[in-house]
Amino acid sequence: MVDVVTQLKAKFDSSALLTNDQDKAKYVTDWPGKITGKAAAVIKPTNTAEVSEIMKIAFDTATPVVPQSGNTSVAGGSVPDTNGSAIVVSLERMNKIRDISPSAMTATVEAGCILEHLHQTFEEQNLFFPLNFGAKGSCMIGGNLATNAGGQNVVRYGNTRDLCLGIEAVTSDGRIVNLLSGLRKDNTGYDLRDLFIGSEGTLGIITAATLKLFHLPKARATTFAVVPDITRALALLNHAQAETGGAVEAFELIPKVFLQLVKKYAPQYNIPFENIPTLCVLIEIAATSNNESLANEDGIAPVNSKLENILEVGFEKGFVLDAVIATSEAQRRQMWDMREGALEVITAAGTRIGFDISLPLNKIQNFVEEMESQTEAIISGLRMCHMGHLGDGNLHYAIFPPENKPEILMAKAEEIKSVVYDSIGKYGGSFSAEHGIGVSKLSAMSKYKDPVSLAIMKQIKATLDPKNIMNPGKLLP
Ligand SMILES: Cc1cc2nc3c(=O)[nH]c(=O)nc-3n(C[C@H](O)[C@H](O)[C@H](O)COP(=O)(O)OP(=O)(O)OC[C@H]3O[C@@H](n4cnc5c(N)ncnc54)[C@H](O)[C@@H]3O)c2cc1C
Repeated sequence: MVDVVTQLKAKFDSSALLTNDQDKAKYVTDWPGKITGKAAAVIKPTNTAEVSEIMKIAFDTATPVVPQSGNTSVAGGSVPDTNGSAIVVSLERMNKIRDISPSAMTATVEAGCILEHLHQTFEEQNLFFPLNFGAKGSCMIGGNLATNAGGQNVVRYGNTRDLCLGIEAVTSDGRIVNLLSGLRKDNTGYDLRDLFIGSEGTLGIITAATLKLFHLPKARATTFAVVPDITRALALLNHAQAETGGAVEAFELIPKVFLQLVKKYAPQYNIPFENIPTLCVLIEIAATSNNESLANEDGIAPVNSKLENILEVGFEKGFVLDAVIATSEAQRRQMWDMREGALEVITAAGTRIGFDISLPLNKIQNFVEEMESQTEAIISGLRMCHMGHLGDGNLHYAIFPPENKPEILMAKAEEIKSVVYDSIGKYGGSFSAEHGIGVSKLSAMSKYKDPVSLAIMKQIKATLDPKNIMNPGKLLP
């Protein structure tokens, strides 16, 4: 049989097909720079029909296929292994917005659209797509769907799955599944859209999606508030939800260890307090109506007054110890830049054990305390950074070694991971909240995923991908 690259060369020119190592390099190394694989070729289709042609060739030749969008995966899911037989299918040239409907409040976009470009385009029409996080300038909607990405606005709008009305996908044998209807009600059997969302490229290639749009907030009120502990932070969240009718857009937890790292590794970010506090939350509420967003004669928008009132009650009840409200868009941006740059700051700080976990909100305080005492018994002086999207129960929990002793941590890494993962199970949490499994959490998947669910997932995989060519070695142990 003619090999895959020869067959692809017969159909695609050199602008679409990369075969030399230099051209392929950026597609085979992951964002953290920890994994570098090998690919027989990188192929960059421009439309769904081409993706279908590629998949037919891959199916006939039993070639492993790694779908790739923005390549910002932090779970090692978007790059091939070192075998060299796989092709990377990059969606980056499939970046058209097919349709925006302000009346239906939907947009149909191709998988390679960069998230931030979508934000900008929709905003020009006063529309809002709320998925948002630090990688927005590079990640693409196909990858967001394939990982069911979360981010900072989940507390209000849900995960990517909740923001998607339909998808178009190409199966492992090249068939095109068109589920782009954009319907908000469609009970016609199994929901294949939801099957592809979160499947991390192991079932097929998502080529387009119909997204839910929202009204663009006309004003936002943002604060950095110092809180005594997580329990009282959550009391503040519930108070804010009640006062705003559920309009809390973001509720992010920022602990002292993170702010210390900011001071050391990213001094360009402005910490809005003179002394670094023990625990903060970054809270944002928003208004879409003129009533709430237009400034009164004192120059203050009602949404800002509402936030001030929420904080005032928070002070009285002991939920809040100190707070700074952003008084301009520039100050708000400074607060968010620091939050959105968190992964870079944490990465710059070097050796750590990182977790992307979720817990029931009412268990987080106990979990954090228990982790502190249990890990202290393994290594004294660990620095615990329980940063995260507190409003939806997701912690990007990072454990740093005692200052200047990185080797101590890695020697005990497996023991510490077991303590954390066992405890997550005990509290009814998840070992993978939003970044996905990729390759980095395969062992946790074997050990902690419900075995019946895992067996059914493998049956689904075998049905949709009988030759096991779709991102093999990822997601499923
Ligand atoms: C600085 C930074 C901050 C981050 N913050 C967050 C955060 O707050 N929340 C969060 O959820 N994630 C976060 N991430 C992780 C990452 O950005 C997300 O997982 C993102 O959704 C991946 O999108 P991507 O386009 O880069 O996908 P890629 O990295 O290219 O791919 C991710 C996975 O999806 C598969 N895939 C990609 N495209 C397709 C497709 N079209 N069809 C089928 N499968 C496909 C890949 O094979 C891979 O398994 C962050 C990453 C960085 C670097």
